[in-house]
Amino acid sequence: MTLEAALAQTEAGTERSRETRWAEVVSVQQEVTDVATLGLRFIDPSMQRAYSFRPGQFNMLYLPGLGEAAISISSDCNDRSLVSHTVRFVGNVTRGLSRLRPGDQVGVRGPFGRSWPLEQLEGKDLFIACGGIGLPPLRPAISHIVRHREKYGKVTLLYGARTPAELMFTQEYEQWREAGIEVEVTVDRADADWPGRVGVVPMWFYQFRIDAQKTAVLTCGPEIMIRFVIFEALARRVAPESIFVSLERNMKCGQGSCGHCQIGPYFICRDGPVFQFSALEPFFNVEEF
Ligand SMILES: Cc1cc2nc3c(=O)[nH]c(=O)nc-3n(C[C@H](O)[C@H](O)[C@H](O)COP(=O)(O)OP(=O)(O)OC[C@H]3O[C@@H](n4cnc5c(N)ncnc54)[C@H](O)[C@@H]3O)c2cc1C
Repeated sequence: MTLEAALAQTEAGTERSRETRWAEVVSVQQEVTDVATLGLRFIDPSMQRAYSFRPGQFNMLYLPGLGEAAISISSDCNDRSLVSHTVRFVGNVTRGLSRLRPGDQVGVRGPFGRSWPLEQLEGKDLFIACGGIGLPPLRPAISHIVRHREKYGKVTLLYGARTPAELMFTQEYEQWREAGIEVEVTVDRADADWPGRVGVVPMWFYQFRIDAQKTAVLTCGPEIMIRFVIFEALARRVAPESIFVSLERNMKCGQGSCGHCQIGPYFICRDGPVFQFSALEPFFNVEEF
């Protein structure tokens, strides 16, 4: 599918997405202390069959009496049996989500937003730099790359967490490596058993050799990490058009009406969450972008 076709489909999908649909929690996988992945299945089987999304899109998850939160879809687009969301429990809605058990129901609006432009990046080397809860929105992109590995050049995933215990999806790294992705993991603070890298993602990013002409950088995670990854990528002469960032800001409506998630002229929910850095550059040095 071309990028244009994907965007047209996203827009058509947005019209259909405004309604809340009910889904049942089928599985709860505790990832790390304050993060779990909820596997959801729509109550209406025809909705489950029809539901499709692109890597990087998100849903608004709704709990009656608590409200809605924007949560990225973290499962494989090709898996039609479940739609997964990996949630960090930080506030009202997400703490409510942390109490859900298999059989409970949750409202879902979506999918929303622009996806990672994976078709557009075919033929390029990809450098994926992410931290913490920034990995889940990239996981469907990684599944896509694994499925279409021959369409990309060198693919590197550099993922960081505060401690080894906070690394997510550790059971999948080997499978990604076997598919030809270089998976590099780092932690801010090691423990006695940690044999690997120590230090923040931008610091290690600096150490990797990349062919700036051929490489696209995909990044998601804490805003401070994103900023330094972008600075470093630009310093290495990666073009702003080849840097893609997914932003997570406080969001309310999810459909470009309320302005809560605005950055300059853009609304994250409608124009993002994935942006080409060249579009964001004029707003990059403004506080919180
Ligand atoms: C496009 C998009 C995708 C997202 N995907 C995910 C995801 O996959 N998993 C996930 O866990 N979260 C994700 N988020 C973030 C999530 O939507 C927010 O954390 C949301 O506010 C949580 O709702 P709440 O009611 O639980 O917290 P609130 O009651 O809204 O906030 C509680 C506390 O968290 C702080 N806070 C809220 N949002 C953020 C934020 N984005 N960054 C830093 N601090 C914040 C608030 O300032 C407050 O102190 C995403 C956000 C966006 C915009």
